[in-house]
Amino acid sequence: TDTPVTVIGLGLMGQALAGAFLKAGHPTTVWNRTAAKADQLVDQGAQLAPSVGDALKAGPLTIICLTDYQAVRELLGAADAELDGTTLINLTSGDSAQARETAQWAEQRGAHYLDGAIMAVPPAIGTAEAMILHSGPKPYFEAHKSTLDALGTVTHLGADHGLASLYDVAGLAMMWSVLNAWLQGTALLKTAGVDAATYAPFARQIAEGVATWLPGYAEQIDRGSFPAEVSALETDARAMAHLIEESEAVGVNAELPKLFKAMADRAIAAGHGGEQYPVLIEEFGKPGTD
Ligand code: NDP
Repeated sequence: TDTPVTVIGLGLMGQALAGAFLKAGHPTTVWNRTAAKADQLVDQGAQLAPSVGDALKAGPLTIICLTDYQAVRELLGAADAELDGTTLINLTSGDSAQARETAQWAEQRGAHYLDGAIMAVPPAIGTAEAMILHSGPKPYFEAHKSTLDALGTVTHLGADHGLASLYDVAGLAMMWSVLNAWLQGTALLKTAGVDAATYAPFARQIAEGVATWLPGYAEQIDRGSFPAEVSALETDARAMAHLIEESEAVGVNAELPKLFKAMADRAIAAGHGGEQYPVLIEEFGKPGTD
């Protein structure tokens, strides 16, 4: 807990990150373009660096969390020489290509670079619920894991710097898919006077049940073989048609089920109707038709 750490960028997230390091007892140096955002942290014991360069030099580890990658490159570009020997962890949200490019850019300037993604809101930072993903050379992560532990549940995904961003959006895809499916069902049940709170426990049970299928289905995808052990895709497609018809009959939006039925129909047309649902990975693994 006596390892010094620097946090650059004190927006809502950066303030939470710096606050968690302070709370865990780390000597914490901060810098923000708008210096006033450091006031509260300084009251809690943070050191406000007079420049980005000074912030980078304050210790062996710097966390940066700005609006986007462009802001990161602009800011650190001006402090060019100062990256040498620093471990730089970029927790700014962005895509995998930006992460890989920024890694190359930072490494050329002598930094030990890790990319990261925060799967949490600021109030959760510092608790086990805050999932913080890292990717890049593992030794850089291991050297600072005990410091990073102050932020939440921190994990290393692999050496490819793009992995944290990819896991980030993959997690969002999961989140929105579950939420949208739940809203579809809630809208259907509302037409019969069932309120959302009544349906929610049932929906949760379904979502948890489906989640238990993932490891077995993942094995099929990794093997590239999709025998219909419990159900064939054409059986699913018939149930999808039923969901669309019911939605339309009661005046509920049917766009979402139509979208996934169109994907299933394409897979069936390609000859996969007798295989199991995860064969749809072939549709997901290529550009769509929009
Ligand atoms: P804020 O808008 O609160 O803060 C943005 C920060 O970026 C500020 O410190 C701002 O400085 C700084 N900044 C922007 N442009 C520049 C620039 N050109 N030069 C220097 N500094 C710059 O955003 P958040 O803190 O909420 O988010 C930061 C990152 O964390 C984003 O990538 C976001 O996607 C990610 N994140 C946020 C979550 C959240 O719930 N808030 C959840 C998960 C990830 P200044 O104060 O001077 O404007």
